[in-house]
Amino acid sequence: MNIHEYQGKSLLKGFGVAIQEGIVADTPEQAVEAAKELNKQTGTEWFVVKAQIHAGGRGKGTVTETGSHGVVLAKGLDKVEDIARGILGGHLVTAQTNAKGKKVNKVLIAQDVYYPGESETEEFYMSVLMNRETGRNVIIYSPEGGMDIEAVAEKTPHLIYKEEIDPQIGLQGFQARRIAFNLGLSGQAFKEMTKFVFSLYAAYDGIDASMFEINPVLKTSDNRIIAVDSKVSIDESALYRHKDIAAMHDPSEDNPVELEAKEAGLNYVDLDGNVGCMVNGAGLAMATMDIIKLSGGEPANFLDVGGTADAERVEKAFRMILKDPNVKAILINIFGGIVRCDRVAQGVVDAYKSIGNIPVPIIVRLQGTNAEEAKKLIDESGLDVHSAVLLKEAAQKVSEVLA
Ligand code: GDP
Ligand code: MN
Repeated sequence: MNIHEYQGKSLLKGFGVAIQEGIVADTPEQAVEAAKELNKQTGTEWFVVKAQIHAGGRGKGTVTETGSHGVVLAKGLDKVEDIARGILGGHLVTAQTNAKGKKVNKVLIAQDVYYPGESETEEFYMSVLMNRETGRNVIIYSPEGGMDIEAVAEKTPHLIYKEEIDPQIGLQGFQARRIAFNLGLSGQAFKEMTKFVFSLYAAYDGIDASMFEINPVLKTSDNRIIAVDSKVSIDESALYRHKDIAAMHDPSEDNPVELEAKEAGLNYVDLDGNVGCMVNGAGLAMATMDIIKLSGGEPANFLDVGGTADAERVEKAFRMILKDPNVKAILINIFGGIVRCDRVAQGVVDAYKSIGNIPVPIIVRLQGTNAEEAKKLIDESGLDVHSAVLLKEAAQKVSEVLA
Protein backbone atom coordinates (compact mmCIF):
# COMPACT_ATOMS: atom_id res chain seq x y z
CA MET A 1 0.00 0.00 0.00
CA ASN A 2 1.26 3.44 -0.91
CA ILE A 3 0.82 6.48 1.28
CA HIS A 4 1.27 10.21 0.72
CA GLU A 5 4.48 12.15 1.29
CA TYR A 6 3.09 13.90 4.38
CA GLN A 7 2.02 10.58 5.91
CA GLY A 8 5.37 8.96 5.17
CA LYS A 9 7.20 11.88 6.72
CA SER A 10 5.13 11.63 9.91
CA LEU A 11 6.04 7.95 10.21
CA LEU A 12 9.73 8.71 9.62
CA LYS A 13 9.66 11.43 12.23
CA GLY A 14 8.27 8.95 14.74
CA PHE A 15 11.52 7.02 14.37
CA GLY A 16 13.68 10.07 14.83
CA VAL A 17 14.40 10.74 11.14
CA ALA A 18 14.95 14.46 10.56
CA ILE A 19 12.41 15.74 8.05
CA GLN A 20 11.44 18.90 6.23
CA GLU A 21 8.56 19.94 8.51
CA GLY A 22 5.17 20.64 7.04
CA ILE A 23 1.42 20.80 7.59
CA VAL A 24 -1.15 19.40 5.20
CA ALA A 25 -4.09 21.43 3.87
CA ASP A 26 -7.26 20.76 1.85
CA THR A 27 -8.08 24.33 0.77
CA PRO A 28 -6.13 27.50 -0.13
CA GLU A 29 -7.45 29.13 3.07
CA GLN A 30 -6.23 26.19 5.16
CA ALA A 31 -2.90 26.43 3.36
CA VAL A 32 -2.46 29.97 4.68
CA GLU A 33 -3.33 28.85 8.21
CA ALA A 34 -0.87 25.98 7.86
CA ALA A 35 1.86 28.37 6.73
CA LYS A 36 1.21 30.67 9.71
CA GLU A 37 1.37 27.75 12.09
CA LEU A 38 4.56 26.46 10.45
CA ASN A 39 6.11 29.90 10.78
CA LYS A 40 5.36 29.77 14.52
CA GLN A 41 6.84 26.29 14.86
CA THR A 42 9.94 26.65 12.73
CA GLY A 43 10.43 30.34 12.07
CA THR A 44 10.43 29.73 8.33
CA GLU A 45 9.35 32.64 6.15
CA TRP A 46 9.54 30.83 2.84
CA PHE A 47 7.34 27.82 2.15
CA VAL A 48 7.12 25.03 -0.39
CA VAL A 49 3.66 24.07 -1.55
CA LYS A 50 3.65 20.40 -2.52
CA ALA A 51 0.86 18.49 -4.26
CA GLN A 52 0.03 15.26 -2.44
CA ILE A 53 -0.57 12.51 -5.00
CA HIS A 54 0.70 8.95 -5.26
CA ALA A 55 3.21 9.67 -8.02
CA GLY A 56 6.69 11.09 -8.22
CA GLY A 57 8.07 13.73 -10.55
CA ARG A 58 5.77 16.37 -9.07
CA GLY A 59 8.40 19.10 -9.17
CA LYS A 60 8.60 18.86 -12.96
CA GLY A 61 4.94 17.93 -13.40
CA THR A 62 2.25 20.35 -14.56
CA VAL A 63 -1.28 20.97 -13.33
CA THR A 64 -3.40 20.76 -16.51
CA GLU A 65 -5.92 23.42 -15.50
CA THR A 66 -3.48 26.13 -14.33
CA GLY A 67 -0.03 25.33 -15.73
CA SER A 68 1.42 25.35 -12.20
CA HIS A 69 4.09 22.84 -11.23
CA GLY A 70 3.31 20.31 -8.51
CA VAL A 71 6.00 21.63 -6.12
CA VAL A 72 6.28 25.40 -5.90
CA LEU A 73 8.36 27.67 -3.68
CA ALA A 74 6.41 30.47 -1.97
CA LYS A 75 8.78 33.31 -1.11
CA GLY A 76 6.59 34.72 1.61
CA LEU A 77 3.31 34.07 3.42
CA ASP A 78 1.41 36.28 0.97
CA LYS A 79 2.26 33.94 -1.92
CA VAL A 80 0.95 30.74 -0.32
CA GLU A 81 -2.77 31.14 -1.01
CA ASP A 82 -2.47 31.75 -4.77
CA ILE A 83 0.08 29.01 -5.24
CA ALA A 84 -2.08 26.54 -3.33
CA ARG A 85 -5.09 27.58 -5.42
CA GLY A 86 -3.10 26.82 -8.56
CA ILE A 87 -2.47 23.27 -7.42
CA LEU A 88 -5.49 22.16 -5.36
CA GLY A 89 -8.38 20.60 -7.26
CA GLY A 90 -6.40 20.40 -10.49
CA HIS A 91 -4.98 17.37 -12.26
CA LEU A 92 -1.25 16.95 -11.95
CA VAL A 93 0.46 15.23 -14.87
CA THR A 94 3.96 13.89 -14.19
CA ALA A 95 6.33 11.41 -15.84
CA GLN A 96 4.80 8.80 -13.53
CA THR A 97 1.08 9.44 -14.18
CA ASN A 98 -0.98 8.86 -17.31
CA ALA A 99 -1.96 11.73 -19.63
CA LYS A 100 -5.02 12.60 -17.53
CA GLY A 101 -2.91 13.05 -14.42
CA LYS A 102 -4.03 12.71 -10.83
CA LYS A 103 -6.47 14.95 -9.03
CA VAL A 104 -4.84 16.89 -6.20
CA ASN A 105 -6.97 16.90 -3.05
CA LYS A 106 -4.32 17.99 -0.57
CA VAL A 107 -1.20 20.11 -0.49
CA LEU A 108 1.62 19.93 2.00
CA ILE A 109 2.84 23.31 3.16
CA ALA A 110 6.47 22.69 4.05
CA GLN A 111 9.29 24.84 5.39
CA ASP A 112 11.87 26.01 2.86
CA VAL A 113 15.08 24.17 3.71
CA TYR A 114 17.25 25.34 0.84
CA TYR A 115 18.30 28.58 2.59
CA PRO A 116 20.21 30.70 1.83
CA GLY A 117 20.37 29.31 -1.69
CA GLU A 118 20.55 26.07 -3.63
CA SER A 119 24.32 26.38 -4.13
CA GLU A 120 24.80 25.98 -0.36
CA THR A 121 22.97 22.67 -0.22
CA GLU A 122 23.50 19.15 -1.52
CA GLU A 123 20.83 16.70 -2.68
CA PHE A 124 21.34 12.96 -2.21
CA TYR A 125 19.25 9.96 -3.21
CA MET A 126 18.44 7.16 -0.77
CA SER A 127 16.09 4.21 -0.91
CA VAL A 128 15.60 1.08 1.15
CA LEU A 129 14.08 -2.08 -0.26
CA MET A 130 14.35 -5.83 -0.32
CA ASN A 131 16.85 -7.45 -2.66
CA ARG A 132 14.84 -10.52 -3.62
CA GLU A 133 17.87 -12.35 -4.97
CA THR A 134 19.70 -12.31 -1.65
CA GLY A 135 16.66 -12.02 0.61
CA ARG A 136 18.25 -9.03 2.33
CA ASN A 137 17.30 -5.41 2.71
CA VAL A 138 19.46 -3.05 0.75
CA ILE A 139 20.08 0.68 1.04
CA ILE A 140 20.61 2.19 -2.40
CA TYR A 141 22.03 5.70 -2.43
CA SER A 142 23.72 8.26 -4.61
CA PRO A 143 25.48 11.59 -4.21
CA GLU A 144 23.58 12.70 -7.32
CA GLY A 145 20.09 13.02 -5.83
CA GLY A 146 17.33 15.38 -6.88
CA MET A 147 14.95 15.25 -9.74
CA ASP A 148 17.07 13.36 -12.31
CA ILE A 149 17.94 10.12 -10.55
CA GLU A 150 16.71 8.04 -13.54
CA ALA A 151 19.27 9.81 -15.76
CA VAL A 152 22.02 9.17 -13.19
CA ALA A 153 21.18 5.46 -13.17
CA GLU A 154 21.35 5.41 -16.96
CA LYS A 155 24.39 7.58 -17.69
CA THR A 156 26.58 7.26 -14.59
CA PRO A 157 25.58 3.99 -12.89
CA HIS A 158 28.85 3.95 -10.90
CA LEU A 159 27.41 6.83 -8.86
CA ILE A 160 24.69 4.55 -7.48
CA TYR A 161 25.90 2.67 -4.40
CA LYS A 162 24.41 -0.25 -2.48
CA GLU A 163 24.72 -1.35 1.11
CA GLU A 164 23.17 -4.71 1.93
CA ILE A 165 22.09 -5.51 5.48
CA ASP A 166 22.55 -8.85 7.19
CA PRO A 167 19.20 -9.64 8.84
CA GLN A 168 20.87 -11.46 11.74
CA ILE A 169 22.91 -8.52 12.95
CA GLY A 170 21.14 -5.57 11.37
CA LEU A 171 22.68 -2.38 10.05
CA GLN A 172 26.24 -1.93 11.31
CA GLY A 173 28.06 1.26 12.22
CA PHE A 174 30.72 0.80 9.57
CA GLN A 175 28.00 0.55 6.93
CA ALA A 176 26.39 3.84 7.94
CA ARG A 177 29.86 5.45 7.95
CA ARG A 178 30.64 4.03 4.52
CA ILE A 179 27.44 5.57 3.21
CA ALA A 180 28.31 8.98 4.68
CA PHE A 181 31.83 8.66 3.25
CA ASN A 182 30.65 7.71 -0.26
CA LEU A 183 28.31 10.68 -0.18
CA GLY A 184 31.39 12.87 0.24
CA LEU A 185 30.52 14.12 3.71
CA SER A 186 32.79 15.12 6.56
CA GLY A 187 32.60 16.70 10.02
CA GLN A 188 29.15 17.44 11.41
CA ALA A 189 27.32 16.41 8.22
CA PHE A 190 29.06 13.03 8.30
CA LYS A 191 27.80 12.38 11.84
CA GLU A 192 24.33 13.59 10.95
CA MET A 193 24.22 11.25 7.98
CA THR A 194 25.11 8.17 10.01
CA LYS A 195 22.33 9.07 12.46
CA PHE A 196 19.95 9.63 9.56
CA VAL A 197 20.75 6.24 8.03
CA PHE A 198 20.23 4.43 11.33
CA SER A 199 16.88 6.03 12.06
CA LEU A 200 15.74 5.59 8.46
CA TYR A 201 16.53 1.89 8.57
CA ALA A 202 14.83 1.54 11.96
CA ALA A 203 11.72 3.14 10.45
CA TYR A 204 11.79 0.80 7.46
CA ASP A 205 12.03 -2.19 9.75
CA GLY A 206 9.59 -0.86 12.32
CA ILE A 207 6.66 -0.15 10.02
CA ASP A 208 7.11 -3.26 7.82
CA ALA A 209 7.77 -1.14 4.77
CA SER A 210 8.35 -2.75 1.40
CA MET A 211 9.99 0.33 -0.09
CA PHE A 212 11.35 3.70 0.98
CA GLU A 213 12.54 6.27 -1.49
CA ILE A 214 13.83 9.52 -0.07
CA ASN A 215 14.81 11.83 -2.89
CA PRO A 216 16.20 14.25 -2.08
CA VAL A 217 17.89 13.69 1.23
CA LEU A 218 19.24 17.18 1.80
CA LYS A 219 22.40 18.49 3.38
CA THR A 220 21.41 21.97 4.47
CA SER A 221 23.76 24.93 4.55
CA ASP A 222 24.08 24.42 8.31
CA ASN A 223 25.03 20.75 7.85
CA ARG A 224 21.81 19.10 8.88
CA ILE A 225 20.67 16.01 7.00
CA ILE A 226 16.91 15.88 6.37
CA ALA A 227 14.32 14.02 4.32
CA VAL A 228 12.76 16.51 1.91
CA ASP A 229 10.61 13.98 0.10
CA SER A 230 9.24 10.59 1.14
CA LYS A 231 7.86 7.79 -0.94
CA VAL A 232 6.77 4.99 1.37
CA SER A 233 5.12 1.67 0.50
CA ILE A 234 3.94 -0.68 3.21
CA ASP A 235 3.79 -4.44 2.94
CA GLU A 236 0.04 -5.08 2.82
CA SER A 237 0.42 -8.48 4.46
CA ALA A 238 1.75 -6.72 7.56
CA LEU A 239 -0.97 -4.10 7.79
CA TYR A 240 -2.93 -6.13 10.32
CA ARG A 241 -0.36 -5.18 12.93
CA HIS A 242 -0.28 -1.50 11.95
CA LYS A 243 -3.87 -0.30 12.26
CA ASP A 244 -2.70 3.32 12.35
CA ILE A 245 -0.95 2.92 9.00
CA ALA A 246 -3.82 0.94 7.48
CA ALA A 247 -6.02 3.97 8.30
CA MET A 248 -3.76 6.11 6.08
CA HIS A 249 -5.15 4.42 2.98
CA ASP A 250 -6.53 7.07 0.62
CA PRO A 251 -9.37 5.56 -1.47
CA SER A 252 -9.31 8.54 -3.86
CA GLU A 253 -5.99 7.20 -5.14
CA ASP A 254 -7.53 3.86 -6.11
CA ASN A 255 -8.49 3.27 -9.73
CA PRO A 256 -12.34 3.13 -9.61
CA VAL A 257 -12.54 0.33 -12.18
CA GLU A 258 -9.93 -1.70 -10.30
CA LEU A 259 -11.86 -1.13 -7.08
CA GLU A 260 -15.09 -2.33 -8.66
CA ALA A 261 -13.26 -5.39 -9.99
CA LYS A 262 -11.92 -6.16 -6.54
CA GLU A 263 -15.44 -6.07 -5.13
CA ALA A 264 -16.60 -8.44 -7.89
CA GLY A 265 -13.79 -10.82 -6.96
CA LEU A 266 -11.90 -10.20 -10.21
CA ASN A 267 -8.20 -9.53 -10.43
CA TYR A 268 -8.06 -6.53 -12.77
CA VAL A 269 -5.28 -4.09 -13.63
CA ASP A 270 -5.95 -1.24 -16.05
CA LEU A 271 -3.38 -0.80 -18.85
CA ASP A 272 -2.98 1.53 -21.84
CA GLY A 273 -3.44 -0.81 -24.84
CA ASN A 274 -6.28 -1.70 -27.24
CA VAL A 275 -6.95 -5.42 -26.71
CA GLY A 276 -9.03 -6.33 -23.69
CA CYS A 277 -8.27 -9.74 -22.25
CA MET A 278 -10.20 -12.10 -20.05
CA VAL A 279 -8.21 -15.04 -18.75
CA ASN A 280 -8.33 -17.58 -15.94
CA GLY A 281 -5.13 -17.78 -13.94
CA ALA A 282 -2.47 -15.10 -13.51
CA GLY A 283 0.22 -17.03 -15.37
CA LEU A 284 -1.99 -17.61 -18.38
CA ALA A 285 -2.99 -13.94 -18.25
CA MET A 286 0.67 -12.91 -18.45
CA ALA A 287 1.27 -15.28 -21.35
CA THR A 288 -1.83 -13.96 -23.10
CA MET A 289 -0.56 -10.40 -22.79
CA ASP A 290 2.69 -11.52 -24.45
CA ILE A 291 0.70 -13.16 -27.27
CA ILE A 292 -1.27 -9.98 -27.81
CA LYS A 293 1.95 -8.01 -28.12
CA LEU A 294 3.43 -10.54 -30.52
CA SER A 295 0.37 -10.25 -32.73
CA GLY A 296 0.77 -6.48 -32.98
CA GLY A 297 -1.68 -5.38 -30.28
CA GLU A 298 -1.21 -3.92 -26.81
CA PRO A 299 -3.08 -5.33 -23.82
CA ALA A 300 -5.70 -2.93 -22.44
CA ASN A 301 -5.78 -4.70 -19.13
CA PHE A 302 -4.72 -7.65 -17.06
CA LEU A 303 -7.74 -9.65 -15.96
CA ASP A 304 -7.77 -12.92 -14.11
CA VAL A 305 -11.35 -14.16 -13.67
CA GLY A 306 -10.17 -16.93 -11.38
CA GLY A 307 -11.12 -20.56 -11.25
CA THR A 308 -14.88 -20.24 -11.57
CA ALA A 309 -15.45 -18.61 -14.95
CA ASP A 310 -19.25 -18.89 -14.87
CA ALA A 311 -21.71 -16.74 -16.84
CA GLU A 312 -22.07 -14.22 -14.04
CA ARG A 313 -18.34 -13.63 -13.68
CA VAL A 314 -17.82 -13.57 -17.44
CA GLU A 315 -20.52 -10.91 -17.72
CA LYS A 316 -18.93 -8.80 -14.97
CA ALA A 317 -15.57 -9.15 -16.67
CA PHE A 318 -17.06 -8.10 -20.03
CA ARG A 319 -18.59 -5.01 -18.50
CA MET A 320 -15.30 -4.15 -16.82
CA ILE A 321 -13.36 -4.40 -20.07
CA LEU A 322 -15.96 -2.46 -22.06
CA LYS A 323 -15.63 0.54 -19.72
CA ASP A 324 -12.31 1.22 -21.42
CA PRO A 325 -12.97 3.21 -24.63
CA ASN A 326 -9.58 2.19 -26.07
CA VAL A 327 -10.58 -1.46 -26.40
CA LYS A 328 -10.75 -2.48 -30.09
CA ALA A 329 -10.99 -6.25 -29.59
CA ILE A 330 -11.42 -8.70 -26.73
CA LEU A 331 -9.44 -11.89 -26.38
CA ILE A 332 -10.85 -14.51 -24.06
CA ASN A 333 -8.34 -17.19 -23.20
CA ILE A 334 -9.60 -19.84 -20.81
CA PHE A 335 -8.05 -23.12 -19.85
CA GLY A 336 -10.69 -25.61 -18.80
CA GLY A 337 -9.21 -27.64 -16.01
CA ILE A 338 -11.72 -27.72 -13.19
CA VAL A 339 -14.10 -25.46 -15.08
CA ARG A 340 -15.51 -27.07 -18.26
CA CYS A 341 -14.97 -25.15 -21.50
CA ASP A 342 -18.54 -25.63 -22.70
CA ARG A 343 -19.81 -23.99 -19.52
CA VAL A 344 -17.51 -21.03 -20.09
CA ALA A 345 -18.61 -20.85 -23.73
CA GLN A 346 -22.24 -20.83 -22.61
CA GLY A 347 -21.30 -18.12 -20.15
CA VAL A 348 -19.80 -16.02 -22.96
CA VAL A 349 -22.87 -16.46 -25.14
CA ASP A 350 -25.26 -15.66 -22.26
CA ALA A 351 -23.23 -12.64 -21.16
CA TYR A 352 -23.08 -11.38 -24.74
CA LYS A 353 -26.85 -11.63 -25.07
CA SER A 354 -27.45 -10.05 -21.69
CA ILE A 355 -25.20 -7.05 -22.38
CA GLY A 356 -26.65 -6.62 -25.87
CA ASN A 357 -24.64 -5.18 -28.66
CA ILE A 358 -20.93 -5.51 -27.89
CA PRO A 359 -19.26 -3.05 -30.27
CA VAL A 360 -15.94 -4.87 -30.71
CA PRO A 361 -15.02 -8.30 -32.10
CA ILE A 362 -14.37 -11.08 -29.63
CA ILE A 363 -11.89 -13.89 -30.05
CA VAL A 364 -12.40 -16.85 -27.78
CA ARG A 365 -9.81 -19.51 -27.23
CA LEU A 366 -10.91 -22.35 -25.00
CA GLN A 367 -8.61 -25.26 -24.33
CA GLY A 368 -8.97 -28.24 -22.05
CA THR A 369 -12.01 -30.19 -20.89
CA ASN A 370 -14.79 -30.16 -23.54
CA ALA A 371 -12.92 -27.64 -25.74
CA GLU A 372 -14.47 -28.99 -28.96
CA GLU A 373 -18.02 -28.75 -27.62
CA ALA A 374 -17.23 -25.21 -26.53
CA LYS A 375 -15.98 -24.22 -29.97
CA LYS A 376 -19.15 -25.64 -31.52
CA LEU A 377 -21.33 -23.67 -29.09
CA ILE A 378 -19.56 -20.43 -30.01
CA ASP A 379 -19.55 -21.10 -33.75
CA GLU A 380 -23.28 -21.87 -33.75
CA SER A 381 -24.28 -18.92 -31.56
CA GLY A 382 -24.53 -16.54 -34.53
CA LEU A 383 -22.72 -13.82 -32.57
CA ASP A 384 -19.69 -11.77 -33.68
CA VAL A 385 -17.42 -14.14 -31.80
CA HIS A 386 -14.45 -15.87 -33.41
CA SER A 387 -13.40 -19.13 -31.87
CA ALA A 388 -9.95 -20.63 -31.81
CA VAL A 389 -8.56 -23.71 -30.17
CA LEU A 390 -4.85 -23.02 -30.51
CA LEU A 391 -3.21 -19.96 -29.02
CA LYS A 392 -1.47 -19.39 -32.36
CA GLU A 393 -4.84 -19.17 -34.12
CA ALA A 394 -6.14 -16.82 -31.47
CA ALA A 395 -3.14 -14.51 -31.95
CA GLN A 396 -3.64 -14.55 -35.70
CA LYS A 397 -7.31 -13.64 -35.31
CA VAL A 398 -6.40 -10.76 -33.01
CA SER A 399 -4.09 -9.31 -35.66
CA GLU A 400 -6.76 -9.85 -38.35
CA VAL A 401 -9.44 -7.94 -36.44
CA LEU A 402 -7.01 -5.15 -35.54
CA ALA A 403 -5.86 -4.74 -39.16
P1 GDP B 1 9.06 15.09 -6.61
O1 GDP B 1 9.38 15.97 -7.77
O2 GDP B 1 7.69 14.49 -6.72
O3 GDP B 1 10.10 14.07 -6.36
O4 GDP B 1 8.95 16.04 -5.31
P2 GDP B 1 10.07 16.51 -4.25
O5 GDP B 1 9.46 16.51 -2.92
O6 GDP B 1 11.31 15.71 -4.40
O7 GDP B 1 10.35 17.98 -4.67
C1 GDP B 1 10.84 18.31 -5.94
C2 GDP B 1 11.96 19.32 -5.85
O8 GDP B 1 11.50 20.51 -5.24
C3 GDP B 1 13.14 18.88 -4.99
O9 GDP B 1 14.02 18.04 -5.70
C4 GDP B 1 13.77 20.20 -4.65
O10 GDP B 1 14.69 20.58 -5.67
C5 GDP B 1 12.58 21.16 -4.65
N1 GDP B 1 12.29 21.51 -3.26
C6 GDP B 1 11.71 20.73 -2.33
N2 GDP B 1 11.66 21.36 -1.14
C7 GDP B 1 12.24 22.56 -1.34
C8 GDP B 1 12.51 23.69 -0.50
O11 GDP B 1 12.27 23.68 0.71
N3 GDP B 1 13.10 24.77 -1.08
C9 GDP B 1 13.42 24.82 -2.39
N4 GDP B 1 13.99 25.92 -2.89
N5 GDP B 1 13.20 23.77 -3.20
C10 GDP B 1 12.61 22.67 -2.70
MN1 MN C 1 11.42 13.61 -4.91
